[in-house]
Amino acid sequence: MTDLPYIWREKKSIFQLKGLKCLKCEHVNYPLRRVCVECGSQELEEIQMSSTGKVLSFIVNHYLPKEFDKPLAIGVVELDGGGRLMSQFTEIKSEKDLKIGMPVEVVIRRMSDKDGMLYYGPKFKILQEETE
Ligand SMILES: [Zn+2]
Repeated sequence: MTDLPYIWREKKSIFQLKGLKCLKCEHVNYPLRRVCVECGSQELEEIQMSSTGKVLSFIVNHYLPKEFDKPLAIGVVELDGGGRLMSQFTEIKSEKDLKIGMPVEVVIRRMSDKDGMLYYGPKFKILQEETE
């Protein structure tokens, strides 16, 4: 699921959460690309995306190679202000910890320690839901 070399290539985009906002349709493109995925426009402006958002979807994996923490929850988050990001959740013990629509924050955490190398990347940390 996680393409580690890709993360290193796209370091600026991924670690700093830089996206490209389309000046035509306002879609936030992430990771960085040359044309808008929604309308094909090349008029894109680099923006700082929010580090908070809400869970759109998730899955929880229990059967993985030994270098991964288990269970491993992976999901898609819609960032506040636009842009979607797919990554792992951190500090998840079971499916019960996750709900669609719950608020999360993007944090940098260890992804894997394959072959004695440490790999870091963005993960989603659940924020306490605000009580209104
Ligand atoms: Zn567009």
